[in-house]
Amino acid sequence: MRLGAHLSIAKGLDKAAETAANIGANTFQFFTRNPRGGRARIITEKEAASWQAKRRQHDLFPVVGHLPYTVNMAAAAEKSFAFAKMVISDDLQRMDAVGVEYLVVHPGSHVGAGREKGIKKIIESLEEAFIPSRGKTMLLLETMAGQGTEVGSLRDIQEILSALGHPERLGVCLDTCHLTAAGYDFLQKEEVARLADDLAELVGLERVKALHINDSMFPPNSKRDRHARIGQGYLGREGILNVIAHPVFSGLPLLLETPVDDYLEYKDEIELLRSWTE
Ligand SMILES: [Zn+2]
Repeated sequence: MRLGAHLSIAKGLDKAAETAANIGANTFQFFTRNPRGGRARIITEKEAASWQAKRRQHDLFPVVGHLPYTVNMAAAAEKSFAFAKMVISDDLQRMDAVGVEYLVVHPGSHVGAGREKGIKKIIESLEEAFIPSRGKTMLLLETMAGQGTEVGSLRDIQEILSALGHPERLGVCLDTCHLTAAGYDFLQKEEVARLADDLAELVGLERVKALHINDSMFPPNSKRDRHARIGQGYLGREGILNVIAHPVFSGLPLLLETPVDDYLEYKDEIELLRSWTE
């Protein structure tokens, strides 16, 4: 099982690799730049070399970058739209340069312009910033909770993928909390099977590359994105296990994004999850 958590690279990618090893992770995720702003750290050659050695030493694969929340590909406002395209194009290059396998992005929010306009903007952003990009890093669109004016249901993602002609390096990242909020009830095994069927039909299972493993503070269909710690929300042991034991999801890298005060607390959650699946 590939299991890890969202960590900080503020002190360096190589330091994050050490933290990952300390918490018993064999994969991890990090923000590619300041999550609420957008400033990017320069990753020096020295750091990159130390990072490559550490990830091999600690067997950290795959590794996932997450774009900041300020990136909104669906934005109608020109300034935000231009920022989103700049960051996507830049971070695809930055991540490829350090061998990061996946880059996750929230599709965006239409902020009142309507779903169709939002989807059109997302397609336009990807046409300009993603399609011309080269390298190996795959861009993953994350499935969202449907909160406010968020775009990012499986149907939205299907529309985006087909408008772009299903590019090879464009995939999907799931989130157990978001999917609960969007209406799947993982306390029932049939609902996990329904998700697998929907993914196969709408996006293709081969495109699903990562899973954010979070409990949800609210029950299904709340349209509210509030992560809870493992075992402390609606899903509990049963809901989480129903998902991660299912053959479609069991091979995915599982990344915790639960509310902790210190990254080292993820060690307990990783141990808990491992004890459940043994
Ligand atoms: Zn996310």
